[in-house]
Amino acid sequence: MTALLRIEAATVRFGDRAALDGVDLDVTAHETVCVLGPSGSGKSTLLRAVAGLQPLDAGRVLLDGADQAGTPPHRRGVGLMFQDHQLFPQRDVGGNVAFGPRMHKMPRERRDPRVAELLDLVGLPGAAHRAVSTLSGGEQQRVALARALAPEPRLLMLDEPLGQLDRSLRERLVVELRQLFGRLGTTVLAVTHDQGEAFALADRVVVMRGGTIAQSGTPLAVWQHPASEFVARFLGFDT
Ligand code: ADP
Ligand code: MG
Repeated sequence: MTALLRIEAATVRFGDRAALDGVDLDVTAHETVCVLGPSGSGKSTLLRAVAGLQPLDAGRVLLDGADQAGTPPHRRGVGLMFQDHQLFPQRDVGGNVAFGPRMHKMPRERRDPRVAELLDLVGLPGAAHRAVSTLSGGEQQRVALARALAPEPRLLMLDEPLGQLDRSLRERLVVELRQLFGRLGTTVLAVTHDQGEAFALADRVVVMRGGTIAQSGTPLAVWQHPASEFVARFLGFDT
């Protein structure tokens, strides 16, 4: 079976430091993979490379078997949502969700129901005409998610998507996200530095260290059998 995403020996250097140092990673359709790791381990660089926002010095990124070298970000069919999600304050919620080119071009009679559907999905029914300034942090996060889902990306990538929120809200949203992705069959590659979040969301976790993959496995396998002292310590075991 072809992986939806295949990363082969991806290497990115900044000066004499490798932010990614020969990373191999496959993501299967409908899978949720969470990348964990300390700050500076290369997590964001990995997502940016898949999105086409960061050129590789070596290695390849394939989507549905096709090498993406030379394919610009907007033609890759992947969505990327950053921690700093930046809604457009002068547009209402519906205007934010429909911002992407695909929905932008739709006639109003198709666009409005699609916006309503996406807002239902993220648990904000009827919010299309609300001003962004009236939304709580968690609500803004949901709108950003609806906007990322709007173009129906074949791969949804989330970079610390809940990083700004307080813990109790994060824990609730993670459960909702997992249900949502399951229902939609979304393929997800998400970055977090919070292991609780990763373990709650992921079918598989990948632990990064210094631009390499220290371990990859199901949350249970990684938890029960950390592959190295680094992973064990990162998970909070006293070694
Ligand atoms: P993470 O997301 O895991 O915190 P990053 O992927 O952002 O890590 O960064 C990995 C390494 O690459 C870090 O050492 C960081 O300082 C470096 N780095 C990332 N982006 C750049 C850049 N544009 N220029 C120079 N160094 C960078
Ligand atoms: Mg990062």
